Amino acid sequence: TVTHPDEETIDGTALAVDALRANGVETVYGVVGIPITDLARTAQARGIRYIGFRQEQAAGHAAAAAGFLTGRPGICLTVSAPGFLNGLVALANATTNCFPMIQISGSSERNIIDLQQGDYEELDQFNVAKPFAKASFRVDRPQDIGIGVARAIRAAVSGRPGGVYLDLPAAVLRATMPAAAGAASLMRVVDPAPARIPAPESIARALDLLAGAERPLIVLGKGAAYARADQAIRSFVETTGIPYLPMSMAKGLLPDDHPQSAAAARSLVLGQADVVMLVGARLNWLLAHGQAPRWAAAARFIQIDVDPMEIDSNRPIEAPVVGDIASAMAGCNDGLSSVKIAVPDAWWDAIRDRTAKNVAKLRAKLDADAHPMNFATALRAIRDVLDDHRDVHLVNEGANTLDSGRDIVPMYHPRHRLDSGTWGTMGVGMGYAIAAAVESGGPVVAIEGDSAFGFSGMEIETICRYQLPIITIVFNNGGVYKGDEVNTYSADPAPTVLLHSSRYDKLIAAFGGTGYQADTPDELGHALLAALKAGRPALINAVIDPSAGTESGHLSHLNATGSLQPV
Ligand code: ADP
Repeated sequence: TVTHPDEETIDGTALAVDALRANGVETVYGVVGIPITDLARTAQARGIRYIGFRQEQAAGHAAAAAGFLTGRPGICLTVSAPGFLNGLVALANATTNCFPMIQISGSSERNIIDLQQGDYEELDQFNVAKPFAKASFRVDRPQDIGIGVARAIRAAVSGRPGGVYLDLPAAVLRATMPAAAGAASLMRVVDPAPARIPAPESIARALDLLAGAERPLIVLGKGAAYARADQAIRSFVETTGIPYLPMSMAKGLLPDDHPQSAAAARSLVLGQADVVMLVGARLNWLLAHGQAPRWAAAARFIQIDVDPMEIDSNRPIEAPVVGDIASAMAGCNDGLSSVKIAVPDAWWDAIRDRTAKNVAKLRAKLDADAHPMNFATALRAIRDVLDDHRDVHLVNEGANTLDSGRDIVPMYHPRHRLDSGTWGTMGVGMGYAIAAAVESGGPVVAIEGDSAFGFSGMEIETICRYQLPIITIVFNNGGVYKGDEVNTYSADPAPTVLLHSSRYDKLIAAFGGTGYQADTPDELGHALLAALKAGRPALINAVIDPSAGTESGHLSHLNATGSLQPV
C-alpha cells in the first residue's frame, strides 16, 4: 500500500487491538516482551483490560478458563519462541478440554526463520502450534489482521470449541497502512458459534431408547455446562425423573443437593444402567471408556455431542444426537410431549439405598477427629464455610486434593467449578483462579495440593498486584501424593517428597497479601471465613498429615510400577 506523507496511518499493533475490540474482547491475559510489549500498552490505551502474568503457561490457562466461563474465546498474549512454547501447554490443554481460547504470539523475522539463520527467538511457531491447536493461522500483511482475528474467533468457538493459534510476526506489528483502509479491513464476526440443530429423527431415536429403559442414567459433562442450556437440561432431567451423574466440571449445573443426583451412587449407576444418555461428556478414561466391568457390557448409549467424530469413539452409540446441546435439549423437551418416560421404582430404590450407605461412610470420614488433619477433615471445614458462600468460584487441583475435593465440596451454581480436567493437568490452579476472579468480579477459592500449587505459585504476586479476591488453600502434606516416603539409597529426599515444614502462607505476605497457618479444621474454617470477609488476596497453609493420601490418588492403576532394584 502507498501512503501519502500527510495521510493518517495505523500500525499493525493498533490494528490487532482494534480487531479484538471490534469483536467485543474486554480482557487479554499475557506476559509482555519482544515484540508484543506495545500491543499490551495499546490494548490498555484503547480500553481493553490487560492482566500481566509471571509465566505464559498460567496466562494461557487463565485465557482458557475465561473461554469456558464466558463462552467467548479467552485471549492469551505471548512473546516469541520460549514464551510461545510456555503458552502452548495451555493452548493444548484448552483444546483437549474443548475450551475456546486464542493464543496470539509475536514472532521473529520470517526470512531468517525460514532459512534457519539464527534469529533472536527463532522458531517456526505457526507450524509448531498446529498439532496442539484446533487451528493455526499466521498473518503476513497488516491489512489481513482483521481477517486473521475473525478466523481465529470462529475457529475457537464454533462447533467443538478449542484452542487457536494466531501468529503475528514483528514485521506485521511494525508495518503501517492508511488508517481509513486499516479500519475498513476489520470485521465483526456475526454469529460466531451458530446453532447446530440435530436431525429430528435422531432425537426421536434417543427418546424411544430412553422410554424402553429400566435403569436409565443421564451423564452431564463439562460440554453441558459450557453449552449454557441450564434451564433446558434441568427441565429434561426433572420431567423425565431420570437419575443424573455430573462430571466434575458439570457439578452445580443442577445443584449438587438435587434429589435426582446419583453422584453418591456412582459405581452402582455406572455398573447397572441399561440406557445411558451422555450430554456433553466423552467416553474417555474419565468414564472408563464406556467398557465393562465399570459399565454393564449390555448398556445402550445415547450421546449428544456437537462433534460427529466423537460418536462411537470408544464403544457403539446406538442413538447419536449430533448437534449443539441447547438445540438438542430443546428438541428432547419438545419430544417429551409424545413419548412417555417413566423410571421404575426399583431403580430409584437401589440408588437411594446405595446413596444412604455411601453418605454414611463418607460422614464417618468427615467427622473423624484426626491430628494432624487429613484430606477429608480439612475439606469438611472448607465445605462448611462455603455452604454459606455458594457464589464462590472453586478451583481444585492436586491428586488426593482433587479426588476428595470433588466428592466432598458440593456446588450449587453452573460453571463455578474449574479443575484439572480432561488431562488431569497440574498447574492450572492460579491461572484458572485469576480468570475466575477477573471474569466474575467475585470471590474465588483455590484448593490446591502442595505439589500442584508449585507449578503456578509465583502467580500469587499477580493476584496481589491486581488485588483479586482469591483465597488459595495449600493442602500441605509435604509431597507429591504423600509426604512420608523415605529414600533408603542415599541422603537425598525421596522423589515424592516436598518440604512439609514449608510456610506457604509467608509467600503471600511477601507481596502484601494475608497469610494464615491452619493446623486444625477449626483454624482452617476460621481462616477461610476471615479471608472471605476481607475479600483480599489470601493464602492458607493447611497442614495435612504427610501419611494421608494414596499414590496417584484414584489413579494408582495407571502407574507403571518398577522393581525398584538398586544396581
Ligand atoms: P467431561 O470431562 O466433563 O466428561 P468432556 O470434555 O469429555 O466432558 O466432553 C465435553 C464434550 O462436549 C465434547 O465432546 C464436546 O465436543 C462437547 N461439547 C462442547 N460444547 C458443546 C455444545 N455447545 N453442544 C454440544 N456438545 C458440546
